[in-house]
Amino acid sequence: MTHPEKEYDIVVIGGGHAGYEAALAAARMGCRTAMVSMERTAIGRMSCNPSIGGIGKSHILKELDALGGEMAKNADYTGIQYRTLNSRKGPAVRATRLQCDKEWFPIRIQHVIANTPGLHIIESTASNLILRNGRVKGILLEDGSPIGSKAVVLATGTFLGGKIHVGKKELGGRQNW
Ligand SMILES: Cc1cc2nc3c(=O)[nH]c(=O)nc-3n(C[C@H](O)[C@H](O)[C@H](O)COP(=O)(O)OP(=O)(O)OC[C@H]3O[C@@H](n4cnc5c(N)ncnc54)[C@H](O)[C@@H]3O)c2cc1C
Repeated sequence: MTHPEKEYDIVVIGGGHAGYEAALAAARMGCRTAMVSMERTAIGRMSCNPSIGGIGKSHILKELDALGGEMAKNADYTGIQYRTLNSRKGPAVRATRLQCDKEWFPIRIQHVIANTPGLHIIESTASNLILRNGRVKGILLEDGSPIGSKAVVLATGTFLGGKIHVGKKELGGRQNW
């Protein structure tokens, strides 16, 4: 069953790094959580260059790690090359960067999600927010079915209104090709 409940405490839209961290954090705090992702096997998929950390990013990753996040842990499990960037320069400009196994990284994240109690995956596209009196009450899926929620986390990523054209087909968001 894709979405066994119709009412959640938290619905997270998007299964990128931001989405899985938000969903795991919510579920680990005991919230009934749903993560809406267009493709179950794409959750946690890495960018073209499968690096984690780097200049301007590794300090954020370390903060996530300190708060109990999964990304740094997952990078440790799936890392294949570790580097301290700018090691010849002063400590203020150094950064940790890992290159990960691109296939293994999302597989392990998906395994962690599957074994997190209270976290359900809804394999669909969120098409709208349900609003009542200016407050969010849930979302609508692309097939029109409503999912109720006390709060909705938008983790829809870096592509925003970006569109992909494949012949006559038009799609949005990060896809499999
Ligand atoms: C071209 C490019 C190259 C990059 N290269 C690198 C790199 O080499 N190394 C690196 O560390 N970072 C790289 N980045 C940055 C990195 O990809 C982003 O910082 C990171 O992916 C952002 O994570 P996110 O979870 O916010 O968004 P995303 O990873 O974009 O995830 C958002 C997810 O939400 C889904 N979504 C959107 N709308 C809906 C909806 N309505 N319903 C359901 N799901 C929805 C999308 O399909 C997507 O899966 C790159 C970014 C771009 C654009």
